[in-house]
Amino acid sequence: MAKRQSCIAVSFALMASMTIGMADVAGAAQNPCSSIVNESGSEVTCDPIDLEISSGELSLPIPAIGTSVGVAEISSNPSDSGDSMYVANLDGVVTVSDLTSAGVISSGVSACSDSFYALAGYKESDNHAWYFNNAGSGNWIGSGSAVSADLSAANIITNATNNCSIVANPTNRNNYVGLTTLHPQIPIVLGANCASIPTDTVNVHGWVSGLAYTTLARTCWWGIARPGTDELSTADVGFNSARNWFSTLPANCSNAFDMVGVAVHEWGHVYGLDHASSATHPNLTMSSVSAPCTVAQRSLGKGDILGLLALYP
Ligand SMILES: [Zn+2]
Repeated sequence: MAKRQSCIAVSFALMASMTIGMADVAGAAQNPCSSIVNESGSEVTCDPIDLEISSGELSLPIPAIGTSVGVAEISSNPSDSGDSMYVANLDGVVTVSDLTSAGVISSGVSACSDSFYALAGYKESDNHAWYFNNAGSGNWIGSGSAVSADLSAANIITNATNNCSIVANPTNRNNYVGLTTLHPQIPIVLGANCASIPTDTVNVHGWVSGLAYTTLARTCWWGIARPGTDELSTADVGFNSARNWFSTLPANCSNAFDMVGVAVHEWGHVYGLDHASSATHPNLTMSSVSAPCTVAQRSLGKGDILGLLALYP
């Protein structure tokens, strides 16, 4: 297979979505890009694969042609803005998108009235087989267990469980296989990014240390770039072991987070949902900020369900 050299044209559009056109030229990989010039129509003769692209507070490497990579974080801090990003490389055309949603949290409309949803650009067409690694557990408060909380969350997403009397039966499915000693491929170094390719293709959830304190959980996912909607290949979820977690709201709760609710949110990412702004859609499960000592996020809102039905009718 011939080495590739790439001509790159960069342009930014609204919503921080960026496309990079890459034309194949012989001789490529000897000349990796050190940067991509943010200049519409400009061309750079270098190989951009693995070049880090920054958008907001996040950055990701440009993945190989035909693949995609994404990251999303849910925060305990309403002023956090760098919360999701996605880079897809379809036949040499790279699309970068992110959603920033910082802002003052309003009361918003109720979860059952808020129809907003955003799609990340991929879906999971298979029965999603996944594992849990319970090593390095965060501070667990009260009864229940992390793995049962995560399993409940998976089923809430695939059954579209809600308190809104919305009857929905999306076609996505999950299959919890069991515990594993594999680690979720979530970078444990503060500020590090998801890798351009996964080191395994096993879907692993578990505990991660070293995340920013305000990052409650982080999902890294990888996909196969396709015209239209990409196809998920692997998704790993890491929960912040430095935080306090529960699955049954404790009496006198203080600064602890609902594992079920946060996990439902992460499962939303696994199945292709992007964030709803915490400023304007604070009551949806896909809001990018989670408050302590509430279980509200574990019940899907109208927009969360409409997003799932858009991908899995
Ligand atoms: Zn998120």
